[in-house]
Amino acid sequence: MEIEDIRLNYVFKNKTDLKHTLAKIAIKKHFQYRIQKSCSEAFWAKCIDENCGWYVRARSSKVSDYFRVIKYHKHHTCSLNHRNFENRQASAKVISSYFKEKFRDPRSTYRPRKIIRDMRDEHGVGVTYNKAWRAKTLAADDVRGSNEESYVLLPSYLYMLQLANPGTITRVCKDEENRFKYMFIAFGASLDGWKQCRPVIVVDGTFLKTKCGGTLYAACVKDGNNQIFPLAFGIGDLENDNAWICSLQD
Ligand SMILES: [Zn+2]
Repeated sequence: MEIEDIRLNYVFKNKTDLKHTLAKIAIKKHFQYRIQKSCSEAFWAKCIDENCGWYVRARSSKVSDYFRVIKYHKHHTCSLNHRNFENRQASAKVISSYFKEKFRDPRSTYRPRKIIRDMRDEHGVGVTYNKAWRAKTLAADDVRGSNEESYVLLPSYLYMLQLANPGTITRVCKDEENRFKYMFIAFGASLDGWKQCRPVIVVDGTFLKTKCGGTLYAACVKDGNNQIFPLAFGIGDLENDNAWICSLQD
């Protein structure tokens, strides 16, 4: 839940939560602050203008991560010169929290340029392309899990795929350090249909443009009606012989 402003004795579940809330309030109210002290027990922040009266102090209890606001002076006396378009509190992490929901749909095409435009129009904050790109990556990772986590889940996904599709063949090859190398999927229905197809297999690949890279390759045949019939899919590191052999020997 977003709060309008903090108050004395407000309790936050941890320091990160407190900092995140303060950053969002600063963006909304167009001011900036400087952190004066930040440790496991205390958090102090003051308006970026030395002469301004705005400050906040919070403390944690010794037995938990909770942070309680023990002092808060909410009124600013700083001039508008300090209310910049660039806001130091608008970190990539904070920006990502505004747009997280847009990444629930895997087909989302919400791009850094759009983040820059929306931050300017909706929050009055200027964001560099680099920061918008990091915010996009953080938001997508937060909602969908990171690329690395998805590779870890791959074996269980393939196992379920085989259970749900009788006759399906899947393989995952890893290197000596248990890192992903190749993957191969041939659906049971495709293998059944292959028996009625022409006995020539065509293999082609395309580079994956994700952070982890690699090549997505597909093996197709032509059916009796000269239509393309997909036979198998795989992901390899490069379009090289090892990846093909790993897949095709199955
Ligand atoms: Zn101020």
